[in-house]
Amino acid sequence: TPSPLAIFDGHALATREHTDCLRPWRVEVRDRNRADGATKSAVLHRHLGTEFLPLSKGEGSYMVLEDGRKIFDASGGAAVGCIGWGNERVARAIMAQVMAIPYCSTIFYTTSVQEELCRYLVDSTNGAMSRAYIVNSGSEAMEAAVKLARQYFLELNPPQPRRTRFISRRQSYHGTTLGALAVGGHEYRRAKFEPMLMKNVSRVSPCNEFRGRHPRETNEDYVARLAKELDDEFQALGPETVCAFVAEPVVGAALGCVPSVPGYFKAMQAVCQKYGALLILDEVMCGMGRTGTLHAWEQEGVVPDIQTIGKTLAGGYQPVAGVLVNRHVVDVIERGTSSFVHGHTYQGHPAGCAAALEVQRIIRDDNLLSNVRKMGALLSRRLQERLGNHPNVGNIRGRGLFWGIEFVAEKKRSIPFPEEAHVAMGISERGLAKEYGINVYPGAGSADGIRGDHIIISPPFNVRAGDIEWIVNTVGRLIDDYFASST
Ligand code: PLP
Repeated sequence: TPSPLAIFDGHALATREHTDCLRPWRVEVRDRNRADGATKSAVLHRHLGTEFLPLSKGEGSYMVLEDGRKIFDASGGAAVGCIGWGNERVARAIMAQVMAIPYCSTIFYTTSVQEELCRYLVDSTNGAMSRAYIVNSGSEAMEAAVKLARQYFLELNPPQPRRTRFISRRQSYHGTTLGALAVGGHEYRRAKFEPMLMKNVSRVSPCNEFRGRHPRETNEDYVARLAKELDDEFQALGPETVCAFVAEPVVGAALGCVPSVPGYFKAMQAVCQKYGALLILDEVMCGMGRTGTLHAWEQEGVVPDIQTIGKTLAGGYQPVAGVLVNRHVVDVIERGTSSFVHGHTYQGHPAGCAAALEVQRIIRDDNLLSNVRKMGALLSRRLQERLGNHPNVGNIRGRGLFWGIEFVAEKKRSIPFPEEAHVAMGISERGLAKEYGINVYPGAGSADGIRGDHIIISPPFNVRAGDIEWIVNTVGRLIDDYFASST
């Protein structure tokens, strides 16, 4: 029988279409396994009519396919994995919780595991946040954040009911459900649903040193320009109508690990405070240790009013995300109706909370944040050494263990590849082939006529120096080979 991994080991027999974070694209696949009559999957996969790699288990940093082949997970899936796969401590904690009580209806009940997790999370903010709200995905967390901001203004004394608008940034991604999608600026993911999205969101420029800062502009001038743009947007909308400014401290999927320049978030928060609006920071991808501190905002000198967290909260062991709410927002709700008008059947799910609590304890007990900073510095240095001069690498940027490589068709003028080339997806998919065996996360952003292809490297927090060397060498070889064969 042909290997189910036939797409990587031979002849191109079919064409498939991808429509993920990138525009639809077509690629020749070697799909010997899908002979006529083969049983079709019953899964409504992301791409119908294509073969997916059958994953059988995870072992540390490796994903093992059903035929035994191992792939090094250098991006923890979608920047989710943070302690590797197959951790027995987490598995035991989930099992114990499921045996004790697997589900909790949160109308009348709570569980000690939910209480402990939320206590752990708010304590990690040194008193800034006073409550946490546990849900099952980053999109749900963003929906809750947006509604909470609205409710805050309704319960202020006196209430400010005219505040219904949000300002976010172009080239942003805040989730896939309708509210979260409306807040984000991911053009491709929005396009088909545009008529159904809330119209009360406007967008300003992201802070993107590589693509957005003028050549002779200082960081200070750049920040001042962006702060003025935000201020102008408040003025145009009517400042008394805006609930919140929404942004990711380090932009993940939409731009590829782009941190802001120093002082940016302080300046943005100052504009929000000037007009009495809230600052919502989306740390679903960059938070919970990924950038070297538990919260990415710790490195920005600001504390958000509302913060969302997700991926590395439970490191993929359960679907868990959350919202951390600043004390002053909680106080207003508490003095008001005392109830957040929002709820999910599975909020505060005990098995999810058990997984998140154990993953966070492992990060603490094994001092993994220090390893993120140490290995992150090594990864940054080695990526620059290996790929900094590559003619098709335009920019390498990131923080902690969250690094993006942006590709260019022409280095001197930083000219991006055309969309139809699907460079990021092509590189990422090639990485899965036997001769590389590496998983990196592809993405492409576009707005205002500027686009960019990138891959994300975000290994687990317990990665070792030898792994970093292997990742850099393999990614280097992959990029060399990809451009050598495509030009
Ligand atoms: N916010 C950010 C910054 C994200 O990167 C994502 C997912 O990639 C989301 C929100 C949505 O999270 P989820 O896919 O868990 O719904």
